[in-house]
Amino acid sequence: PEPTRVEINDVLRRTLIFALQHRGGKNIERRLQLAEGLPPVYVDPKQVQQVFLNLILNAVQAMQEGGTLTVGSVLAESGAARFVRITIADTGPGIPPQIIGKIFTPFFTTKAQGTGLGLAICQKLITQHGGRIAVASEDGNGTVFSIDLPVAEHAP
Ligand code: ADP
Ligand code: MG
Repeated sequence: PEPTRVEINDVLRRTLIFALQHRGGKNIERRLQLAEGLPPVYVDPKQVQQVFLNLILNAVQAMQEGGTLTVGSVLAESGAARFVRITIADTGPGIPPQIIGKIFTPFFTTKAQGTGLGLAICQKLITQHGGRIAVASEDGNGTVFSIDLPVAEHAP
């Protein structure tokens, strides 16, 4: 990775525009809930953009019948550490409990044309940045992916 000072909200806005222009998303309402005044993070902008794009495309694919895509950012704290938490939420069918434990495994897919590599790559890239990715989903109630990126308190 080539880390640099990144305003995560700018990356989120750009990625959302790109994803919806190029990959459809008919009947998808989008909501941006971006916190103001977030500290910058030191990440490779191309890599985090790839992660957001993968998650947004999965969300769009899960809402072929339409729905709401919500992209959010917020400052989160855990002890002395601070994180920028990014959430990408859809109102699609959700992920059944029998498969939710497998979705980050390379080549796991439920799609006819899927590669099953998107989430495996997301997890690798986020872990390489010292961050974490998690999923929460209830069958029938949509899916939320959340990514925590550490705030570099003493960055160059
Ligand atoms: P692919 O998109 O090629 O199938 P991914 O690694 O991106 O591979 O996703 C793996 C699997 O996780 C998908 O096939 C799907 O079953 C599930 N999945 C991922 N994101 C979502 C989502 N937003 N809603 C429902 N299922 C999802
Ligand atoms: Mg995918």
